[in-house]
Amino acid sequence: MLSIVIPLFNEEGNLKLLHQKLVIVLTPLDQPYEIIFVDDGSTDNSPEILRDLHNQDAAVQVIHFRQNFGKTAALTAGFRQSRGQVIITLDADLQDDPAEIPALLDKLNQGYDLVAAWRHHRQDPRDKTWPSRIFNWGVSTFSGLHLHDFNCGFKVYRRAVTEQISLYSDFHRFIPVLAAGKGFRVTELPVQHHPRHSGKSKYGAGRTIRGLLDFVTVLFLTTYLRHPLRLFGATGLIIFGIGSLIEFYLAILWFMRSFGLMDVGPIGTRPLFTVGILAIILGIQLFSTGLLGEMVRYFTFKPEHEYTIERILKKEWPINK
Ligand code: UDP
Ligand code: MG
Repeated sequence: MLSIVIPLFNEEGNLKLLHQKLVIVLTPLDQPYEIIFVDDGSTDNSPEILRDLHNQDAAVQVIHFRQNFGKTAALTAGFRQSRGQVIITLDADLQDDPAEIPALLDKLNQGYDLVAAWRHHRQDPRDKTWPSRIFNWGVSTFSGLHLHDFNCGFKVYRRAVTEQISLYSDFHRFIPVLAAGKGFRVTELPVQHHPRHSGKSKYGAGRTIRGLLDFVTVLFLTTYLRHPLRLFGATGLIIFGIGSLIEFYLAILWFMRSFGLMDVGPIGTRPLFTVGILAIILGIQLFSTGLLGEMVRYFTFKPEHEYTIERILKKEWPINK
C-alpha cells in the first residue's frame, strides 16, 4: 500500500486540483493507496474542502490539528496515521508535481530507503532560493551527506524510515540527515518544480536563523549525542591544561621575583594572567557541560535507540530436548 501524506496550512485554492492530479497519477500504479491530508490548523476554507474530498473519495483521510503546530508536527501525525509500506510526502501548494511520483518510486526500488526530490530549477523568488542554496551547501558540507536539496517537501520513504526517525522542533528540513544518521540509504532525484499555484508562502526570512540553530542541534544529535563528554570533556581538558600551564609559568616568575632571582614586573597586571584564569574557568565549564550531557543521556537512554536492524536471518530450528 502507498500512503500519501500532505501537510497543509491555509491551502484552500490548491486542494481540489491537487487531489485530482494525485488520483490521475496513482490510479494507473495499480496498487492500493491512501491520501492523508494533515490540516495544520487552517483558518480558511480548507477544512470544508477536505470534508468534501473525504466524502467523495474513500481513499482520502483528514487529520485536523486544533491549531497551527507546524509542518514537522503535521508530518509526524501523517506518518503515524499511515499504513503503507511506502510513504510519499508532498506540499499542498502544487509546487511539487504528482506526475513525478512514479519516477521517485522507481528510484526507491533501486535499493534506497529514502528518495528526496531535488528542485534543480527551483521556481521561487530569489530571497528564498539564495538562503536555501547556502543552507544546502552548509548541511551537505557539515553533515557529510551530499544532496543538493535537503528541504524539499517531496520525498518517498520506506516505512522503516518514518518509524525510526523522531521529528523534533522544525526537523522536517533535516529528514535526510536524520535518516542517513540511522544507516538508511538516502539519495535524490531531480524533479520539475512549479511556482505556487494559489495562496501565499507560509515561511519568511525568519526560517533561515531557525534552520541554522536547528542544524546545530541535528549535527550534535547525529554525531556527538552518544558521547557528550568526548567532545566537551576533551576540549575542556585541553583548554584547562593550557590555562594551568600559563598560571604555572607565571607562578614561577612570581617566585623568582619574590626571591630577587629575576628582575621582572608584577604578574597580576599582565594580560596573560587573565587569559590563563579564563582558560581554567572555561575548561572546567566545558568539562562539566560534557558530564551533564552524559547524565542526561544516561537517564534517558533506551538501548533500542542505539541501532537499526535491516534484516534478521533466522530459521525455526527444532529444539532437541
Ligand atoms: N505548512 C504547514 N504548516 C505550517 C506551514 C506550512 O503544514 O505551519 C505546509 C504548507 O501548507 C505547504 C507546505 O507546508 O503545504 C510548504 O509550505 P510553503 O509552500 O509555504 O513553503 P515554501 O514552498 O514557500 O518553502
Ligand atoms: Mg511551497
